[in-house]
Parts: sequence; structure tokens; C-alpha cells
Amino acid sequence: MGNRCESCGVFVSLETAEPEITNLELDEYDEDMQEIHFHGEMRLVRTCAECGDEMKEANIEFEGGPIDLAEHIDLCGDCPTVQQELWDNLEIEAGETEADERGEGSGRYMKTFIIGKLNWEISCPDCDFTAEGTIEAEEQASYFEDLY
Ligand SMILES: [Zn+2]
Ligand SMILES: [Zn+2]
Repeated sequence: MGNRCESCGVFVSLETAEPEITNLELDEYDEDMQEIHFHGEMRLVRTCAECGDEMKEANIEFEGGPIDLAEHIDLCGDCPTVQQELWDNLEIEAGETEADERGEGSGRYMKTFIIGKLNWEISCPDCDFTAEGTIEAEEQASYFEDLY
């Protein structure tokens, strides 16, 4: 056990870099089109606390929603995006990301989970409708894959 950094030549502690969002997409609309979900994937990287070299990674899929679209209908019942019925113009964008961690259990049975947080925003290009929130995805630290 332990994390030996090749560059530093010693065992080092790890830090988690800001999550990298590798995919973020709106799902297909539900049949009644009252709400929408989204999905994506983020890459979490643990780096050497001394030199910053990437040492371990995990690619985690996440799913968000439902996001209520009733407000969109109220706000712009006749904006082209609503009128299209398929509403395929709505856009989702990734905002700020943040890494965090949490422990579960105690002593030698303590498990560490690395958490990636993403602020997302959905907007309509045809009106002022926006919805935003934060989604979290996590992976147990011991399941990260070595990068060397
Ligand atoms: Zn290092
Ligand atoms: Zn709209």
C-alpha cells in the first residue's frame, strides 16, 4: 500500500484535481414532455501533492433529473422551442466543478470516497428559461486505476 510518485521518487499523499467533464447531454424527452433528465461522465484524477503528476483516475457516469419543465411552458408557451413539441433546442452546459471527499466507517475499516461536483445549467435559446443545479458523482478511492 501507499502511493509512490515516480517523479518524486518517494511515497506521497494525493490530492484530487478539479473534475473534468467528458460528456454532458440531455436525454430524450419523456413522452408527456413535462420533465427532462440528463446524463454525462466525469473524470476524477488524483495527483501527487508534491509535484502535481497524475497518479490515479476514475471515469464515472452520472444521471440527473428530473427537471420540471412546467415553468418553461408558462414562461414561453409560444417560443419556437416549445412549439416544436420535441423541444430539441434546449441546451445543457457545464459550469464550475469541484472535488471533495468523504469517509465512511472508522479506523482500519474506513473507506474514502472521492466526490466530483458539477454545476449544470439548462437553458432555452428562444426564451429566458433556465434551470440550474448541482450534481455529484463519487467513486471509492481504492477503486481508482493507477496511471503508471
Ligand atoms: Zn510527485
Ligand atoms: Zn423557451
